[in-house]
Amino acid sequence: MKYFSQALKDASRHKMVIAAAMACSLSVAALWTLNIGALFPIIQTTLNGQSLQTWNQQRIDRATSELASYDAEVAGLDRQLATAKAAERPPLESAREKAERQITNTKFTIWWASKIQPLFERWMPSEPFSTVVLVVCVVVGATALKQLLAVTNQLLVSYVSQSIARDVRSRIFNKALALDRPKFNSQGISGFTAHITHTTDMLAQGITAFYGGAITEPLRIVFCLMLAAFISWRLTLASLLCAPLAAFLMLHLNRRIRALSYRVLDRSLGFHHIMLEVFNGLHTVQAYSMEDFERKRFHQATGQIKRTAMWAAFYNALSSPITELLGMGMLCTGLCVSSYLVIFRATSIFGIPMTNTPFEPAIITVFFAALIAAADPLRKLSGVITGLNTGMAASNLLYPMLDLQSGLVEPATPKSLPSDHKQVEFRNVDFSYDGSHQALAQVNLTVKRGEHLAIVGPNGGGKSTLINLLCRFYDPQQGDVLIDGVSLRDLSLSTVRQKIALVTQQTELFNETILHNIRYGRWDATEAEVIAAAELARAHEFISGFADGYQTVVGPNGQRLSGGQRQRISLARAFLKNADILILDEATSQIDVESERLIHDALSDYGSDKTLIMITHRESTLSLADKVVRVEYGKVEQVLHEAKAA
Ligand code: ADP
Ligand code: MG
Repeated sequence: MKYFSQALKDASRHKMVIAAAMACSLSVAALWTLNIGALFPIIQTTLNGQSLQTWNQQRIDRATSELASYDAEVAGLDRQLATAKAAERPPLESAREKAERQITNTKFTIWWASKIQPLFERWMPSEPFSTVVLVVCVVVGATALKQLLAVTNQLLVSYVSQSIARDVRSRIFNKALALDRPKFNSQGISGFTAHITHTTDMLAQGITAFYGGAITEPLRIVFCLMLAAFISWRLTLASLLCAPLAAFLMLHLNRRIRALSYRVLDRSLGFHHIMLEVFNGLHTVQAYSMEDFERKRFHQATGQIKRTAMWAAFYNALSSPITELLGMGMLCTGLCVSSYLVIFRATSIFGIPMTNTPFEPAIITVFFAALIAAADPLRKLSGVITGLNTGMAASNLLYPMLDLQSGLVEPATPKSLPSDHKQVEFRNVDFSYDGSHQALAQVNLTVKRGEHLAIVGPNGGGKSTLINLLCRFYDPQQGDVLIDGVSLRDLSLSTVRQKIALVTQQTELFNETILHNIRYGRWDATEAEVIAAAELARAHEFISGFADGYQTVVGPNGQRLSGGQRQRISLARAFLKNADILILDEATSQIDVESERLIHDALSDYGSDKTLIMITHRESTLSLADKVVRVEYGKVEQVLHEAKAA
């Protein structure tokens, strides 16, 4: 509930739209009740063959004469009381009290009947049939207006819920971009995908249910019950006798539905996960003929969702009969009680007074109509309750995710660096990904500006981890990574990452043109600069070979290119960024030997003020390096560098 109210609070940013929607709701409810109320003049005039003015005037006259008789009764009782003995007083006093009550009621009847008399005289035809025609026309007009307002209300509410959905989608997307890797992985790509699509849709459903129905429908019920209560509040209360039972059942059902909505969402995460994993690894799935296995896995996951959804559908379906029963119960109680009163011309039932004067048939018809009219929104309320539950379950998943804080805390007042930094340094760095296995232990390493450093070592030694810390994808548990003595923690992330151009073994290209992919990160680069970078990366040649040249679209993740070509484009992107520190993490692993040599030649001339960090397994690369370090078991040690010494 806490999170859903947060979603509603978010929605309150569209105050004016919500206010307009609520105004529409209110008018719809009022018009709905007005239409029911309009039954009265129709029945009254048809049954009695009199105009409303005559009917109302007769009421006033009758009430006035009743008032006079009650006054006389009170005066008589007063006289008797003056002389009565103590034992005779109580019955006289209670009779006097009753008469006083009748006086108040009659005065009220006279008051409002006199109020509407001028209105009747001004607006209503004096002839009965014309009255019916006029009222019918008003009802048709009111219904049209009501529908117009209902449509407007729906559009306004959809606007609010879709705005919130869009806002939440953007916020989740931003969260995904901002979170550190472990927090991102806790949700995973499938988690973010499911939340941005499915869960957010469910939240929108909840918001629509709230502003579209959770206020409108009860409002309609309240208006109808008010009309009923205006005719007889005691009879209305009697009709509501079975309401507490239905309310209790609904509350119970509600809890079940919410729990199930939650489970459906949870299950949907599971099948999103399988789906994305298989689509991403489609080649492997097909190459190893694992289609059957994956089909079964997917079938199982969707089967679970189906079962849960069936239970949810069952409970949702149950809510409809319960509200319907409440409506019918209300109506039937009202019917029995009021029929009894009408048939026996009584004013009380089981000694409980129900009305002051026996009901006129026209009035009792309107009373029934008001109850029937209240039953309709009651029925619709079950759908609203389902929507609300869905929205609550969705918000319980979404909002905690939005509250996740990245483990990489940005300093409140980031320090700045001189534009020409002198060195980067790892000082007593300990790091572990999972808290148990030490990926780096007591690492001390200094790389001077302009130095070319080669990192060698076996797989899993900790080379990439070193780079992860330098780019501040993670913070070390112990020690510090520093640029010119300033800890990365005291710099803004963008300052750190502006200094670095990173190319890893996993090339990541966007399904856009080659030009777009090389320019990514430096939109201001001219075409000449792009070509220069591509030449440096030995990419220009093959790009020129394509019919569309730099305008060639590379396909999802660059699938239309070979591994080596992709790497060269990634390299060109990094060269174009022209950052102070260029990091190549096995970035030339798929490039043919000849091209690699050419790239390395180019790198040896790579600006003398640029730091170059290369992770490599190739001997040839070592000749480029001023310094070589070996990373193994998380330990870094400098190796004697023969190539350079020679
Ligand atoms: P390499 O020297 O081959 O680049 P890495 O630095 O990638 O090795 O990995 C060093 C160690 O850290 C390995 O034992 C690896 O299992 C572990 N490791 C790497 N990345 C993660 C991760 N995201 N979560 C947990 N452990 C990791
Ligand atoms: Mg690695």
